[in-house]
Amino acid sequence: LIVLGIETSCDDTAAAVVRGNGEILSQVVSSQADLLVQYGGVAPKMAEEAHSQAIDPVVREALDKANITESDLSAVAVTIGPGLSLCLRVGVQKARKIASCFNLPIIGVHHMEAHAVVARLIERELQFPFLALLISGGHNLLIVAHNLGQYTQLGTTIDDAIGEAFDKTAKWLGLDMSRSGGPAVEELALEGDAESVKFSTPMKQHKDCNFSYAGLKTQVRLAIESRNIDGKIPISSVSSQDRSSRADIAASFQRVAVLHLEERCERAIEWALNIEPSIKHLVVSGGVASNKTVRDRLDQVVKKNNLQLVCPPPSLCTDNGVMVAWTGIENFRMGRYDPPPPVDDPEDFLYDLRPRWPLGEEYAEGRSEAR
Ligand code: ATP
Ligand code: FE
Repeated sequence: LIVLGIETSCDDTAAAVVRGNGEILSQVVSSQADLLVQYGGVAPKMAEEAHSQAIDPVVREALDKANITESDLSAVAVTIGPGLSLCLRVGVQKARKIASCFNLPIIGVHHMEAHAVVARLIERELQFPFLALLISGGHNLLIVAHNLGQYTQLGTTIDDAIGEAFDKTAKWLGLDMSRSGGPAVEELALEGDAESVKFSTPMKQHKDCNFSYAGLKTQVRLAIESRNIDGKIPISSVSSQDRSSRADIAASFQRVAVLHLEERCERAIEWALNIEPSIKHLVVSGGVASNKTVRDRLDQVVKKNNLQLVCPPPSLCTDNGVMVAWTGIENFRMGRYDPPPPVDDPEDFLYDLRPRWPLGEEYAEGRSEAR
């Protein structure tokens, strides 16, 4: 079994070729970080344009690096949601074109399911059910994964995702955003004192598993303003005193942002074990799971509760084609795929795009009041 995975749901164009045994034959990502720096955010039309330009060379490179051609493939997997429909469409059209030309089955993949399920590629011991914390630019989810395609959502963000808070903090601190904000904040935080700025932990009084990062974002912005830090001046050209004050904010923000994750995971473990007592693992994935403080702190939480942490390597935490190919492989094995699209209509726009696509059922309401 050899599957090509294509991912264009947000701002990276990615493709990868993976074998049924989990061997990664190739992995290619073309990032739009430069555009993001230039324009200060994802503009759907521009992102679509960038995907359209990147998609053919990225897929070609993935096939070349894997040393195969389209006719060696068993199936094509592609992210069909959630995400920006203009962007998703670029990947889906490409996938359908290849599938129809080479008579291949096509597998529609849920982007967040892929973030979670890729953990099973790197940790072969990881069986369903497991608990997962998915933390990225647009999502903050705590889910029980009962099986492929079967999820219970224990918590989500009521406003922003943690990745968004990292990105804004980076921007306001005048950091180099060329790799996205998260890694820049993480790096600067190493120089700072995490106890120096007193940010309050979000949602202390809410005894549930939901998240909130909008308030913390505001606290960071106010701290920056009150210290007369000008984010328009890049950190590379400020005084050492200004730099250290920026580092203190980065470190303090990161500490509290992660503390919020820790507190929610503690409770989620309890809830999850009530639902599925056989759970042994917490999977942490999505871009923010590349963060070392996140990994270290959650490892402590998990150990304390006699569970095991599974966290994919950073290249499989941020958006990538491998997770799509692998989730495609798992779905394919369950018989979940579509037949090759008709050759005479490869541009068929009636395909199943799902820009908004919740992952599983929400946990029974009233639960939070009961605790
Ligand atoms: P979603 O998965 O919700 O659709 P996305 O696909 O854009 O969003 P990912 O690529 O999964 O998101 O993750 C990107 C996010 O991860 C960005 O917000 C980025 O700042 C953050 N991130 C990446 N590396 C780190 C890091 N080392 N520390 C903190 N945050 C990080
Ligand atoms: Fe993602």
